[in-house]
Amino acid sequence: MTSIKEKQKQNWKRWYYKNRKEYLAKERNYERKHILDIYHLGKKIRLIGNKRQYPKDQKCEVCKTERKLLAYHHWNDKDISKGIWCCVYCHAMCELVDRKLYLQYLKIKEEINNGR
Ligand SMILES: [Zn+2]
Repeated sequence: MTSIKEKQKQNWKRWYYKNRKEYLAKERNYERKHILDIYHLGKKIRLIGNKRQYPKDQKCEVCKTERKLLAYHHWNDKDISKGIWCCVYCHAMCELVDRKLYLQYLKIKEEINNGR
């Protein structure tokens, strides 16, 4: 004899099997809007909040190139609404600028130009 819990589990499985494409798309859409996984000292931390709206035109907010998938760059872990949607190249650039690594690049470039 199957218990009610077992029946519910079977119903859920049947429903999921029939609707999984739509269900997973909704889940991905929710995650894209509200969830941000960051890594700190090799540990995954999940931030939940409201990201800025995903660009309707699918274009990187920095270089305006249309991309299939845009990354979300944020600079405030306490408020993920402060961020921009950008392509993988601009995202790398944003990280370099935020970490001021471009200063290191300019310093090395100048040293090389001055015959280091
Ligand atoms: Zn870009």
